[in-house]
Amino acid sequence: MSAELLAKLTAHGVNITGEGFGGTPEITQSDVAGAMAGMRKEVYEFVLLKYCADARMMERVIERVTWRVIGETFTGSYDPGMRLISRIAVIIVHMATEGPICETCNGTGTYASKSCHGCRGTGKTHMTQGKCAGMARISVPTYKKYWARLVDDHVLRLDGYASEGLGYVSRQLREETLQ
Ligand SMILES: [Zn+2]
Repeated sequence: MSAELLAKLTAHGVNITGEGFGGTPEITQSDVAGAMAGMRKEVYEFVLLKYCADARMMERVIERVTWRVIGETFTGSYDPGMRLISRIAVIIVHMATEGPICETCNGTGTYASKSCHGCRGTGKTHMTQGKCAGMARISVPTYKKYWARLVDDHVLRLDGYASEGLGYVSRQLREETLQ
């Protein structure tokens, strides 16, 4: 369980240290793991990958994304080929889990005492289209024309999984501590 996950849960109103719960024992990492039970499978796998650095999930998440991209691109006469789709899936998962550190604020999310404009306060910036095109081994115009929007949509969906997962764990933990 990563410090980042615990910090995010705290931001969701979960008191990880246990203070303020009137004698409720400290919430442990295994409590958090238990609270993840019953989460939608694709959300569960993504949360483990993103916040718990569970490398076993990398392959599964990439595979799910790959299948979705196939469903969206093998339509009509356009056939990009499996190798390109696999590289696109890797780019999507990379962007959704890591994202390079924002150079404006050095990853702090704050610049000149304000929320950083470069990354909207997240501390991370998405890879440039040039970098994505390079990773996909296609030209920048081709990336822009066929892939940029699809990649953004998928990254947004995975961001949604992260929020859904954090919300789920937070609710479970709050319910437990109220009993
Ligand atoms: Zn920034």
